[in-house]
Formats: sequence, C-alpha cells, structure tokens
Amino acid sequence: PKLSKEDVLKKAEELGVEFIHLQFTDIFGVMKNVSITREELEKALNDEKMFDGSSIDGFVRIEESDMYLRPDPSSFTIYPWSGESLEARLICDIYNPDGTPFEGDPRYILKRALKHAEELGYGFNVGPECEFYLFLTNEKGEATTVTHDNASYFDLAPVDLGETARQDMVKTLKQMGFEIEASHHEVGPGQHEIDFKYDDALVTADNIMTFKMVVRIVAQRNGLHATFMPKPVYGIPGSGMHTNMSLTKGGKNAFYDPDGELQLSKEAYYFIGGLMKHARAICAITNPTVNSYKRLVSGFEAPVYIAWSSRNRSPLIRVPAKRGSSTRLELRNPDPSCNPYLALAVVLEAGLDGIINKIDPPESINRNIYHMTSEELLGSNIDRLPVSLEEAIKELNSDDVIKKALSPHTVERFITAKLDEWDEYSAYVTPWELERYLTKY
Ligand code: GLN
Ligand code: MG
Ligand code: MG
Ligand code: MG
Repeated sequence: PKLSKEDVLKKAEELGVEFIHLQFTDIFGVMKNVSITREELEKALNDEKMFDGSSIDGFVRIEESDMYLRPDPSSFTIYPWSGESLEARLICDIYNPDGTPFEGDPRYILKRALKHAEELGYGFNVGPECEFYLFLTNEKGEATTVTHDNASYFDLAPVDLGETARQDMVKTLKQMGFEIEASHHEVGPGQHEIDFKYDDALVTADNIMTFKMVVRIVAQRNGLHATFMPKPVYGIPGSGMHTNMSLTKGGKNAFYDPDGELQLSKEAYYFIGGLMKHARAICAITNPTVNSYKRLVSGFEAPVYIAWSSRNRSPLIRVPAKRGSSTRLELRNPDPSCNPYLALAVVLEAGLDGIINKIDPPESINRNIYHMTSEELLGSNIDRLPVSLEEAIKELNSDDVIKKALSPHTVERFITAKLDEWDEYSAYVTPWELERYLTKY
C-alpha cells in the first residue's frame, strides 16, 4: 500500500525522525538534497518548499530560479545507516512557481513517457543490472583505482573486503525495501554486480538513484570507494547497466505470444525495431560521458554493434530465454553513469515509436559478432554504436523522436553541457599521447 501524506507525518512522528532529505536528480544524473527537520515536514508535504533552481546544473537561468519541491509520500524511507538522529528521505518532483511541472525535471520527463505508453494501453516494467568497482582509498582517504582483489595477493587477511562490503550493501538495501535477486562478483578484479527486482519504470528509476547512493555510502563505511564510472581502468571490463524491460497490457506481459515467432509478440519485434532505429541517438543519454565510449569496445562483453539476438550474449539487444510473464528484452549498452529517468524515458519512446510505426527489426544475429571478419560485417549492414560522446550528441541532435521525449529545455541544456565536456576533453593531452609521441617526434 502506498503511503499518503498523513501516513508519512505519523510515521516520522512515531519513529522520531529528526532529519528528512528532500531528493531530486539533475539532468546529469546527480542526486541533489535539500535537508529539513521534522518540524518542517508538514510544510514540505504541502508542497511549500522552495529552492533556488539556478544553483543546480542544467536547471534554469537566474531569472526563473524559484522552484517548488513536491515530495512523493510513497518514497518515504528511513536511512538504515542513521546515527543517533534518525534520518529519512523523500523523492521530489519539481514544479514551477505557477504550479506547472518543470520541463527540466528528469522524473517528470519519465512520467510523461509513461503516460504516453499508458495512452497506448501499455505499462512499462524495468529491471536493471548495475555493475560497479570497489577500489581502495589511500592514506588521505581519496579514491584510487587499486582493487582489493589485486592487493589481496599480498594480503594475509582471511576475508575479502569487497565481498564483505557487498554483503553489507545487500543487507542495507533489503532494510530499505529492495528485493535483491542476485549479487555476485563480476569479471573485473574488484568489480561487482547487484540486481534488484524489476518494477514499474518510475519506481525503478528512483530505485537506481537510491541504489547508487547506498552502494557509495556502504563502500565508504567499509573503507572502500565504489565507482559507477563506466570504464575506470584500461584493459579490464567496464561497468554496464543492462536494462531488462517489458511492456504490459491488461496486466499481462505484452511481449509474450505463445503462437508468435520465438514466442514473441508483434509488439516485442516492433519494440526491438524502434530501439535499433534510435540506438545511436539513445546512446547520448544512456552513455552520457566521454568515458562511456571507452567501455563500448570489443573484448569486454560490452556491445559495439547494433544487432539483436535470442541466443548470443554479445549484441546490443538480447532476448533472454524466459517466456510467459518473464518475457523481456535486455538492452546492454546503458551504463550506470546515465540519468536513469532520462534513460528509461528515451528507451521507452524509442520502443513505442517502433510499435506506432510498425518498425520491423532486421534479422537477428545468432553468432558472435566479434568473431565476424570486417568484410562480413561490411556486407551484413550491421551498423555500430557511436564511438564517441561527440558522435552520440550529433545523433541525438538529429533524432526528433528522442529529442521530443526529452523536452526542448532538457535537450538544449544537455547538448550544450555535453559538447563543452567533449571540447574540454578534446583539448586535453593524455598520457597515451605522451607515451606514443613524446620521444618519437
Ligand atoms: N561488464 C560488461 C559490460 O560492460 C557486462 C558483463 C556481463 O554482465 N555479462 O557491459
Ligand atoms: Mg547480470
Ligand atoms: Mg554483469
Ligand atoms: Mg545481463
């Protein structure tokens, strides 16, 4: 049962909550907090809390800076790591002073996409697989890129710091209401994955933000640094956020059709068609950093080519074997540096575009694309994902479906900021260049 305003007030009182963190996410996927005391909670729940939006990256210009936070009572959660003073959080929507929803609020953008799906009769369920690295911190407490796994070669301690930290993360997440489906060490040294149960896309986006916060905090309490940076170390696997998704219609899985080819419905095929059509533009949102494109290279189980398969694990879109109510598509390019609200909004709109315009996907590729020769790839019409943030941004800029999903305000802010990021990076002289050219020329 969803909590109401009154429930939240009562609960906060009963439990003796002292601080409440009003949370929202900026367009770059960074969580923001405005903290209040319990005395102010009622006011906050009545949507009377204002903040100065001009201080937030990508939000508004100074002249139009007054914004209202509207807490979602159903998101009320106690922080299990609270010390003596009990802390809780509320996730908020952002409203303009005139009471209209703010176009630059990622949560609103996702809600709008979900409403679009609903108008077409669909619900959207998403289950993410977030990967991350746990690194040691140095004497000053700063993050390094040294993993405990490597260090453990010299270490006599019987317990693995990383495993202990991950267990602690799972416990904390459970206390906050997460249903953990799997948690395991990943391929990279110090790399981990924790999977929680799928839910409606809005709940899942909120959960991803909470998840990343919890993983960082618990890592820190274990003397480690958790990073969701997509490719923190050259030569070892990057961290992805595989996104499992399905549409529902009338309470049933709309991707499942016992009589369809591969037991998939027409909608499932069109959804794949839409995702593939818009994949290159989607990358700007699902892979939004310079570093994201260093993960999308061959050899590390990350997708490079735009293809789908029901058997192979290497392509962009995989159809896991489960059918019936578990029928789903796994989109494999997103990485955990993305803003989950925007990512799920663009992915959904791409899929809906496929359904609305009956976009047939190309033939599936059931062999390992990485084993195909360059000639085979050239002859096969298989396109690839963008190789850089700049390329992805250009694709975004020329894709009207994806731009519309994001709203003009957000597209403009996002593109401006990301092109700046790209320009700054382009001008930087990297260690790779020094190694390659310093003595050669
Ligand atoms: N780490 C891989 C990636 O970058 C995924 C590995 C896996 O879960 N199969 O996407
Ligand atoms: Mg997995
Ligand atoms: Mg994995
Ligand atoms: Mg997976």
